[in-house]
Amino acid sequence: MVMKHTPFRMCISCKERIEQNKLLRLQCKNREITPYSYEGRSFYFCKDCLKNTKEDKLAKSLQRYCKQDKNNLIKMVETYKEKIFNG
Ligand SMILES: [Zn+2]
Repeated sequence: MVMKHTPFRMCISCKERIEQNKLLRLQCKNREITPYSYEGRSFYFCKDCLKNTKEDKLAKSLQRYCKQDKNNLIKMVETYKEKIFNG
């Protein structure tokens, strides 16, 4: 029997270690939050945080990963959330 290895990764917002398939692997590119393109720096958000955490709090977690000012980050989060939840 082969044991399936499930990798755990940390959500940068709630800092929980979660199975990778319940997280979204993202990056900042051209002032947008995009799915990770396997190039550059990536980070993880869990779906619960994206759904339930306020934009300004998510933006604060992002500051370490995206060199943007906070207002830009908030806009980036809003745009991304619209894309995945209403798109
Ligand atoms: Zn989270």
